[in-house]
Amino acid sequence: MRTFALSVHAAWRCRSSLRCCTSGWAIPVEPPVRRRIETAAARGRLPLEEAAAGALPVAAWLPRRGGRRWLATADEGRCVFLERRGTCGLQGALGEAAQPVSCRQFPRVAVIEERGTHVSLTHYCPTAAALLFDVGLPLARVDNAFGPEREYEGLDVRGVVAPWLRPGVWLDPEARDAFEQATLARLEDAPSPEAALAALRAGVGKAARWTPGDGSMAPWIARALGDAEGRPAGDFDFAGAAAALRAIDGCAPPALRAGPEDDTGWAAADAEWVAPAWGGFSRPLRAWLAARLVASWVLWQGDGPTAAVRALELGLYALRALCARAAARARRPLDRAMLSDAIGEADLHMVQRADPRALARLASRPRS
Ligand code: SF4
Repeated sequence: MRTFALSVHAAWRCRSSLRCCTSGWAIPVEPPVRRRIETAAARGRLPLEEAAAGALPVAAWLPRRGGRRWLATADEGRCVFLERRGTCGLQGALGEAAQPVSCRQFPRVAVIEERGTHVSLTHYCPTAAALLFDVGLPLARVDNAFGPEREYEGLDVRGVVAPWLRPGVWLDPEARDAFEQATLARLEDAPSPEAALAALRAGVGKAARWTPGDGSMAPWIARALGDAEGRPAGDFDFAGAAAALRAIDGCAPPALRAGPEDDTGWAAADAEWVAPAWGGFSRPLRAWLAARLVASWVLWQGDGPTAAVRALELGLYALRALCARAAARARRPLDRAMLSDAIGEADLHMVQRADPRALARLASRPRS
């Protein structure tokens, strides 16, 4: 099956940053994977003497909770199969197929359509985040960046009649392509992420007014987004940024929420250390928005293009709040490392923790 990805992600390969193996995440183990691990262990084919798993009885590697099996974690959230030299003991001994699905998929985010699979990455993976700062490639869709042979798990929309342009009017496949490509083009050309989003907000509003009398839907959408003009709000509203972060955090199941934080000093840190540097990071910020647009679940689970663009706005606001928090803690201006970490945390909220349907509902709400 063909895959479609964002140009700047095409160079991604696992560099063993270990972020995913040391996060203390609850990683489910599917029954075939469990059988494989237990069989290999019983036959002595799992030489894990370097791994924490080697110090545990086999029965403790895959604890049962809620009727499912999970990977055990050891000290500081390390997966028990993570070897001291920083490699996956399961993969080393039994191959990638012996890893749980979540391990094989990370950091990929997929929407599986009849015509191919759209793949983006979460920048909670630092290797993926670093790619956003490479300015050499235009923001565009590329085919088969990660090879067509891999199996993807994700939002499977094959046979689904969605998304809609507006209630009762469905986007046809060509119109979906037109929306994605026109959005990427606006993100590529705009002087700032805010300018791109203002134009896109105006563009999706116009696109939604399509009628059969306007001709084919795809060129109408391409024109609506390509020609739209919109100006970002004059004064930046930091209260809105903090509210967006809280709203996105509220999309996570209660056990995964960060919860209310003491944001004293964030607004001042934003004014002193984030705002002056923000414009210098226009390109990685626009690349991040492009990454959240490709393989957008909100497009399918929320109110179509309008919600997909709204999710980008909320995400950018939340990211700004995370940058202010980082600057307040470090007491210095926003720099590349700080922004990269903040992007990773924004994706942790939006991609890893948020219930996708809750995020889609948030992005589909009328603006207050
Ligand atoms: S099974 Fe392997 S890839 Fe998965 S979390 Fe453990 S060490 Fe990492």
